[in-house]
This record gives sequence, C-alpha cells and structure tokens, in this order.
Amino acid sequence: MFLETVRWFLERAAEYSFSAFASWENFTAAIGVVRGTFTDLTSGLAWPYLLASLMISGAAFIFSRRHDALPASSFRAFLFPRHVYRHPSAVLDYRFYIVSTLLKAVLWVPILTGIGLLGQKMMKAFLIGYASWEPPTTLPLAYLFGAVLGFYLLHDFINYCAHVLLHKVPLLWSFHQVHHSAEVMTPITAHRAHPMEFFVTAILQAPVIGLAFVFYQDISAHELEATAIFGVSIVSFMYGLSGFHLQHSHLPISYGPLLNRFIVSPIQHQVHHSIDPRHRNKNFGVKFAVWDVLFGTLYVPRERETLQVGLPDADPREFSTVRKLFFLPFAKAFGGLVTLPYRRG
Ligand SMILES: [Zn+2]
Ligand SMILES: [Zn+2]
Repeated sequence: MFLETVRWFLERAAEYSFSAFASWENFTAAIGVVRGTFTDLTSGLAWPYLLASLMISGAAFIFSRRHDALPASSFRAFLFPRHVYRHPSAVLDYRFYIVSTLLKAVLWVPILTGIGLLGQKMMKAFLIGYASWEPPTTLPLAYLFGAVLGFYLLHDFINYCAHVLLHKVPLLWSFHQVHHSAEVMTPITAHRAHPMEFFVTAILQAPVIGLAFVFYQDISAHELEATAIFGVSIVSFMYGLSGFHLQHSHLPISYGPLLNRFIVSPIQHQVHHSIDPRHRNKNFGVKFAVWDVLFGTLYVPRERETLQVGLPDADPREFSTVRKLFFLPFAKAFGGLVTLPYRRG
C-alpha cells in the first residue's frame, strides 16, 4: 500500500513536472512568461518597478550630493560607476544572465510551471478529496485583503526558510555559492543563481501555491478584482515599487530604523553578501525583514560600513566563467563522482 502510494506520487510528479512539454500549446504558454519580462506587472523587471528603483536612486543621489565628501560628478556616474559595471564579476553576470535566460525560457520555466501545477493537484486532492474541505465561494472584502497579504507573507516566509537551507545544508550551499561568488553587485547579480536553487525553492513553494489555488478556486474573478491593481495583486504591486532592484547594487541605501524591520532595504541584502564575519548568516529575508527580526538574523549597520562582497571561504576566481558557474557546484557537491567539462584552475 505504502509503495503503491509512493509510486502514484512519483508518477504524478513526473507527469505534472513535465506537463509543459506534453504539447506545443503548453510549451509556448509556459515560455510566454519570459516574453513579458519588461511589460507584465507580475514580472519583477516590469518598467514601472524599474522606474521606482530609478527614482529611489535619484533621491539617494541628491542625499549624497549634500552629505558625501566626494559626491559623484553626475547622476550617471553615481548610478553606473565604471569600477562596478565593468568589473570582470559584473561582466560575468551579464554573460551568465544571457545564457541562463535562454535556458530558463526553454527548460526551467516549463519545469517550474509543472512543479506549481503539481502543488495545485496535490493540495486539491489532499484538502478537498481527503480532508473534505470546502473552499469559500465568497468572502467579505477585508477577508479577501487578509488572504492576499497572508499568502504573500507565507510565500515570503518559505523563501526565507529556503534561503536559510541554501546556506546551512552543505549540498545546497555548493549551489548557492554561485550567487555569493559575485565580487561586485549590480541588479543583474540577482540573476546569478544556479538553476538548482530555483528547483529547491519551487518544490518548497509548491504546497503554498497549491493552497492558494484551492483557496481561491471558487471565488469569482470579479470579486478578486477588488484586491488587484492593473490586474496584479495590490501587495505584489506595492512591493514592486519598493526599489528591490537596488538590493544588488553598490548603493548602500537604508529605509530607516522602522521600515528596515519590515522590508529588506538594499543595505540589508548587501550585508548578507558581505564577507565580514560579523555579517555571516545575517539578513536571509528576501522581501520582508520581519522573519529576520523574529529569528534574530537581522543586521542593519548603525553607521556607514565598508562592505566587501564575495565568498568568505573560497576563491571567487573559481567561479570565473559561465561554464564554471553552471558545473562547478556539481563537482563541489558530489566530489569525485562528477567530471567537469573543462580543466580546473
Ligand atoms: Zn544567500
Ligand atoms: Zn543576493
């Protein structure tokens, strides 16, 4: 009986995880997500969000002109300093971004879509089929807003947990090292992440996505419109305007003592990348800082600290090419079992 259940689970997992490859329509629908990168408001790179980050940078530029001893000569020099944007680590980020976006479009997105679908089917079978739960058909507005915020927080909490695991489990750290191997930070550095990270996070997120799907399935789209703005959830739209692109940047922007405890300000994530022992295992939060506050992992510099980002216990030059970023983690994780498709060193 147990083995049959495991077999059923594995068969469904394989079926749904690769469902995007089942037909051409499924495949093009899945990769369509990538097409709307700069225009679809569910994408973090949608232009209104980029504009918000630009405006926050503008405010930081005005502040630095008034307070810094050596302010940048122009907004352009402030925003795109050559020593950061032409650094070999940044150039590697651009190269890696191009390759990983292509792979994402044809491989990762369809598989990740399938994993989300699996979460939906599993939760539906469990909550409705097994536990006989009846999802709500209508909800008062306050409850609807509560659910939107609740699911967003839950999703972010799982991201926090996934991030802690990526650091604490040696096997997973081998892959997360790719992200931390960046020696300078630009918004493109956010995309320097090994695909294994996506899978780990997607698998952990699948039950939450499934739960949200089952919870909302009987509520009419018309009713849900009240919690949306321009067709996306109001919470995710507000977060989009928070300047999160600057988390991976050279701009040490803080949102102030109060707001820093709720939202991850750029300086907080930059501290997470710092190799200073004082900053180790701090600021795991992805969007909200409340988890760092609750679990004692928050670190906000009280005064300006010079940060050096990179890997504290490895040579960042190990990760000097796109090929190494993809393959070296496997060698690190599985030792002699994996042969690299290039010469080490
Ligand atoms: Zn990390
Ligand atoms: Zn980062």
